[in-house]
Amino acid sequence: MSNGYMGKILWINLSEGTFKEEQLPDEIYRQYLGGYGLAAKLIYEKMPSKTDALGADALFGFFPGLLTGTVAPLSGRFMVAGKSPLTGTWGDSNCGGYFGPEIKKCGYDAIIIKGMATSPKYITIINDDKQILDASDLWGLDTVQTEEKLTEKHGKVQVASIGQSGEKLSLISGIVNDKARIAGRSGFGTVMGSKKLKAIVLKGNKDLNVADKDLLLKHTKEYNESISSAKGVIIGWKTFGTTMGNTYSAQIGDTPIKNWGGNVNEDFPMERYNKLSGMEINKYRQKPYGCYSCPVQCGSIMKVPELGLDETHRPEYETCASFGHLLLNDDLMSIFTINDLCNRAGIDVISAGGTVAFAIECYENGILSKDDTDGLELTWGNSSAIIELVKKMINREGFGDILADGSKIASEKIGKGSSKYAIHSLGQELGMHSPKVLKSLGASYAFDPTPGRHTTATLDMYRMGPILKPNGLFEGFELPKKFKNPGDDRSEAEKLISGISQATNCVGLCLFVYNYLKYPLIELINAVVGWDMTMNELVKTGLRIQTLRHSFSLKEGINVIHNKLPERTVDVDYLEDYKAYCKKMGWNPENAYPTKETLTDLNLNFVIKDLY
Ligand code: SF4
Repeated sequence: MSNGYMGKILWINLSEGTFKEEQLPDEIYRQYLGGYGLAAKLIYEKMPSKTDALGADALFGFFPGLLTGTVAPLSGRFMVAGKSPLTGTWGDSNCGGYFGPEIKKCGYDAIIIKGMATSPKYITIINDDKQILDASDLWGLDTVQTEEKLTEKHGKVQVASIGQSGEKLSLISGIVNDKARIAGRSGFGTVMGSKKLKAIVLKGNKDLNVADKDLLLKHTKEYNESISSAKGVIIGWKTFGTTMGNTYSAQIGDTPIKNWGGNVNEDFPMERYNKLSGMEINKYRQKPYGCYSCPVQCGSIMKVPELGLDETHRPEYETCASFGHLLLNDDLMSIFTINDLCNRAGIDVISAGGTVAFAIECYENGILSKDDTDGLELTWGNSSAIIELVKKMINREGFGDILADGSKIASEKIGKGSSKYAIHSLGQELGMHSPKVLKSLGASYAFDPTPGRHTTATLDMYRMGPILKPNGLFEGFELPKKFKNPGDDRSEAEKLISGISQATNCVGLCLFVYNYLKYPLIELINAVVGWDMTMNELVKTGLRIQTLRHSFSLKEGINVIHNKLPERTVDVDYLEDYKAYCKKMGWNPENAYPTKETLTDLNLNFVIKDLY
C-alpha cells in the first residue's frame, strides 16, 4: 500500500464522456514526486509534440504535491500543468486553498483532462460517483457565483472554475478555487474554456496513508510551534501577507514603474506609493485567510464599505504593483475593485496589468487615440479608465478584445511600432520584480520553461531567506561559499536552487517556505512516504523535473535560449548567466540542449529520441 500518494490517477475524456483510472508504478513517484513533476512525465509522454494547446487532443490537468493532503506544514498546494497556449512552451501554475488536498481525498494523484465537450459541462467527483453534467446555467457566471451555485447544489464541495475570461478564451485567463486563489499564469483558464469545461467539483472520502504518523506529527508540531512563537518577519507575513513588500520593493527599485520605463522617485514617489502600503490596505482587513495545512495564513478577507464589497480577498503585492506602480495609479479603491473583478473573471492580474500598461504607453505616444479605445482616456493613473478597460478585457468588448490575449498579441494587432511597449517574455508578461535589482531574474524571466515567471527558482529571489546560510533552511542543503560573486560558485548555486525549488514545488510546498524558518523537508518526505531519500537525491530529482520541463519546450520546437527580454527590463548579460547555468545543468551551453549523458544520468532516456 502506498503512503503519501494514492498510486492512481484519473483520465477524463470530455469528447467521449468517459473516466478511466490508471495505477502508476511506485518508481514514478520517487522520480517525479507529484505536482508538475508528475505532470511533466505524464504529459510529455502522452501528448504528441505540436498538439494545439486549445485543441481536443490537448491534455491538461490538476496535480497535487506529494505531501499535499497530509498535515505537513505549507504543503497544501496543487499545480495546473500542460502546454501553455500563451507561450507555446511547457506551462504550469501553482495554486493554494483547499482544492489540492481534495484531489487526494478523491483517491487521485492527478486528474487529467482531454477531449472537448460540445456544450458547457462541469465535472463532479463526489464520494466515488463521477459525472459530467450540463453547465449551461453556469456559463457566463463569475467564479464566485459559480462556486456558490455549485456549493448550494452539491453541499460542502471544493470547486475550481473559470470565469468570463476563460469562457471567452482570453489567453491570460486562469482557474480559480476558494473564490480567489488562482492558477493564473500560463493561460490554463483558456484551455479549460476551449474544452467548454466550466468547473470541477470535488468531494472525497478516501484516507491518505502515512508511513510514520508519529514522526509526521512530531515534525509538524515543532515547525508550527516555531512559526507561532516567531517574531519579526513572520509576524509581518501573518499580518500583511505579500503586501508587506509593497513599500520596500518600491523603495529599492524592485517594483517596475510606468510600464518598466519609469523611475520611482520621479514618477511614483513615496507620497504616492505609500497610499498602496500594506498598512493602508490592512485598514480593511476582517480576518486572516490561508491555505490548507498552513500555520502562517498569509492571506486576508477584506471588507470595503466604500465599494459595497462585504467580502473580498486582499489584493496581494503582484496585484498592487501591476495595477498600481506599473500604471502610476495610487487610487487604492481602484486596486480593490480591480482585484475583485479579476478574481471573479479568472484573469491573471500580472498579465492584465502589464497589458493595460502597454495600452497606456501606446496612448501616450500617439499610437492609440480615443477613437481606438472606445473613448477611454488612457493616461497614466487614470483609475476610472483603467477599471473600465479591465471590464472590457474581461468581456472582450470593443478595444478590450484587442487586449484580452496579452500585450504581445495586442501589439501584433495594433502594429505601428507598438511592440516596443509590450513587456513580455514569449507572450507572458513579466512578474512585478525587476531584474535590475534581483539580477538573476533576467535569466529566469527569459529562459525558464515557463517564461516571465517571478516564482521560478532563481538565486536572487531567495537572497533574503534562511537558505543562504549553511543548513539554514533545509538540513543537508548548502550553497557554495562564494555564490554571491559572479563565477563558478554562483552558477553552481543557480543549479542547486533550480533543483531544490522544483522539488519543493512538486512536494506541494508553498514557495513562501523560503522566507520563513528552517523546514524539516527530507524528514517530512521520508516520514510520510517511508522512503530513505537523501538531500542529494531530492535535488537530483528536482533537476530531472527541470530538465524534462525544458525538454518539453524543445520538443515543441521552442528553444528558449533564443528568447530576448525587452531592453528596458534588464541590465545584466543574462544570456551569459544562462549559458553558465546550462553548463552546470549538463546542457550544452551553446544551444541549451541537455546532453545525452545528462538525460541518461537523470533517467530521462525517453527524451533522447525526441531531441537527437
Ligand atoms: S503562506 Fe500563504 S500562500 Fe503560502 S500556504 Fe500559507 S496561506 Fe497559502
